[in-house]
Amino acid sequence: MNSNKKGLNTICTHVGELEDTQHKGAISPLYMSTSYAYEDVDVKRYPRYFNTPNQEGLCKKVAALEHAESALIFGSGMAAVSTALLAFLRAGDHVVLQQTLYGGTYNLVNEEFSKYGIEYSFTEGWSAEAFEAQIKENTKVLYIETPSNPLLTITDLEAVANIAKKHGIITLIDNTFASPVNQNPIDFGIDVVIHSATKYMGGHSDICAGAVASTTEHMERIFHLAKNFGGSLSDYTVWLLERSMKTMGIRVRAQNENALAMAHFLDDLADIEKVYYPGLSSHPNHDIARKQMKGFGGMLSFELNASFNASQFQKALQLIKPSMSLAGVESTVLSPTQTSHALMSAEVRAEQGIADGLIRFSVGIEEVEDLKQDILQALESLK
Ligand SMILES: *Cc1c(COP(=O)(O)O)cnc(C)c1O
Repeated sequence: MNSNKKGLNTICTHVGELEDTQHKGAISPLYMSTSYAYEDVDVKRYPRYFNTPNQEGLCKKVAALEHAESALIFGSGMAAVSTALLAFLRAGDHVVLQQTLYGGTYNLVNEEFSKYGIEYSFTEGWSAEAFEAQIKENTKVLYIETPSNPLLTITDLEAVANIAKKHGIITLIDNTFASPVNQNPIDFGIDVVIHSATKYMGGHSDICAGAVASTTEHMERIFHLAKNFGGSLSDYTVWLLERSMKTMGIRVRAQNENALAMAHFLDDLADIEKVYYPGLSSHPNHDIARKQMKGFGGMLSFELNASFNASQFQKALQLIKPSMSLAGVESTVLSPTQTSHALMSAEVRAEQGIADGLIRFSVGIEEVEDLKQDILQALESLK
C-alpha cells in the first residue's frame, strides 16, 4: 500500500510494507543482504546507498507521514541533521539557526562548521522577524526547531517559510519534539523535515535512528552526501523501526492526552512555580501552536518552587524515571541545569529562562492518575 492519501494510523500500519510472497506472512520480511544481483546497471542495491528493500519500504512510510515526496532513514538523528545541513551549505555560505537548539546540533555547528568555512548566526528570540534580522547576502539556510528544548517555545512555521521564500533561502526543521503525528511542516511551506527517530518514531527507548523528508529534488541532493558520509541504518534496526512506527499514531495521541492533563494538573499545584506547555492557553504562543499543531505533544517543562531541590525531587519519584533521553512510552524527567545545559554558564542559563528548579518532563502512556500520584508523593516527601 503506497497511497499518501490514507489516514494517520493506516499510514503508520501499512504504507511501505513489503509483501511476503514466499510464505504470505503478515509483516514485512527482513532482508539482511549486503549484496544483491544487479537488476540493471543503474540500480545497485547496497545498504550504504540507502536502497535495500527494508530501507526503501520504511522511507515510503516516513515520506507519507510528512506529506513529502521522498525520505531517507539514517543511523542516528545527528546523522540526519548533519547530512541535511551540509547538503545545502558549502564554504563561504551562511546559515541562520534558532537560538535554542538540541545540544548535539549546537555542538555540530559550534565545533565543526568553522572547519568547513561555513558561517553561522543564532536568532535572538523565536519570532519570524528574529530569523529575518540575521539574514545576510550569503545566507543559504534557515534552521528551526519547534517546539524547542527545554522551554517548549513555538516558532511560526508559515511566517519563517514566507521570509525564506522571499529571500530564496531553504528552510530546515528539526521536527522531533512534535513528531509527524502532531506537526507536518511541509504543509506550512517548510522545505526539509528532520527527525531523531530515536524519539517518538521509535518510541520504546530501544532504537537509535534518524530521518529526513522533502521533495525528490532536495532528497537527491541529501542522498548524494548521505552515501559519501555513510550514515545508513542497519536493516535489522530499520525493520524494528517499521514495527515501532505501526503504533506511533496511537502512542503519540495517548501521550498528547496525558501531557495536556499533566500540564493542567501541575499548573494548579502551589508547589509548582510555572508550567511550559504549548497546549496551555497561558503559553505565549498558544495561538501559533493551535494553527500549526494537531496535538501539543508529549513534552512539557515545569519549574519547582524555590523551596525544592531538582535532584532531590527526581530521586523522590518512584514511577517516573530520571533519564537523558525522551519520547518513550515510559515517563521520564531530566534537570536541564544538571544535564543538557550543564556546560552553559549560570548567566546564560538565566538569560534563556532555564531555572535551577526546571524539570523537563517526557510524558509516557501510563495511567495519568498514577503519574499525578507520583508527583504528589515526591513533593510531599520533601516537605
Ligand atoms: C535526540 C535529538 C536529536 C539527536 O538524535 P540522535 O538520535 O540522538 O542522534 C536531534 N534533535 C532533537 C530535538 C533530539 O531530541
